[in-house]
Amino acid sequence: MIGNSDFDSLERGAGKGGKGMRIRGNVRSVFLGAAPRAFLLGIFVLFFALFTMPSFASEVHWSYSGEEGPENWGNLSPAFNEAMGGAQSPIDITTEGKENGVEFFYRDGKFSVLNNGHTLQVTPENERENYIVVDGTRYYFRQLHFHTPSEHTLNGTQVPMEIHFVHGDDKGRLAVVALFVVEGPENEAIAAAWSAAPRERGKTGKIEKPFPLNGLLPRDLDGIRYYGSLTTPPTAEGVSWIVLDEHVTAAAGQISWFTDLIGKNARPTQPRNGRILAPFQGRIVR
Ligand SMILES: [Zn+2]
Repeated sequence: MIGNSDFDSLERGAGKGGKGMRIRGNVRSVFLGAAPRAFLLGIFVLFFALFTMPSFASEVHWSYSGEEGPENWGNLSPAFNEAMGGAQSPIDITTEGKENGVEFFYRDGKFSVLNNGHTLQVTPENERENYIVVDGTRYYFRQLHFHTPSEHTLNGTQVPMEIHFVHGDDKGRLAVVALFVVEGPENEAIAAAWSAAPRERGKTGKIEKPFPLNGLLPRDLDGIRYYGSLTTPPTAEGVSWIVLDEHVTAAAGQISWFTDLIGKNARPTQPRNGRILAPFQGRIVR
């Protein structure tokens, strides 16, 4: 029908002037003769387009290098948009967590305790003396601190306390070892820390005896690793978390003493968003 009305207007336009009339007359006769063919051609083109539409994406040119290479696949066609998604394959399969593990180089030494209002923080006098080695990188022990109840949960359940051993490498990257504390026999290292802990916010107290940093670790140092963030503002990401499987104990009174002084200081758990929990094997080297 669209074709017909087009021809109507062509015919109407042909009604002016003599010379033009002849020319238009020729055009008209040509077009009139061609009309059925053009109509059939139109139908054919329409069907061709309909039947080939689904395979349109597969006809977009792509290659393994240059402007149509893998880094640009997502821009070559709307049908390729998913190439820019966050869960593409293939990926690099790493076995670092299992093979390299985490090595602890901790020594008992001189430490002090800071009450910063959010937690009690046990800091070594010498920041280069203790370290862990993760994937061949040395992360120096900066401080440990406490959370009650635990921040990480086990199958949805909090335990009474969690200790964070914060380490940093020479490039400013952080690796934090998380250790769960459950109620049980008194903890000697925690007793040493509490004995020097100032009750006033902003104050620091020295631990008199050598602080048993090594003694704070459980015997089995296996666990899981994942990439996360700090758990206090600014909650910066890029933190390598090393969560130990085995718990240590503290007396119920030791745990409640901390909560009475500082209050509950656990951030709620955050969405995992598909992050991988990689098992590792840890060991004390000295
Ligand atoms: Zn913490």
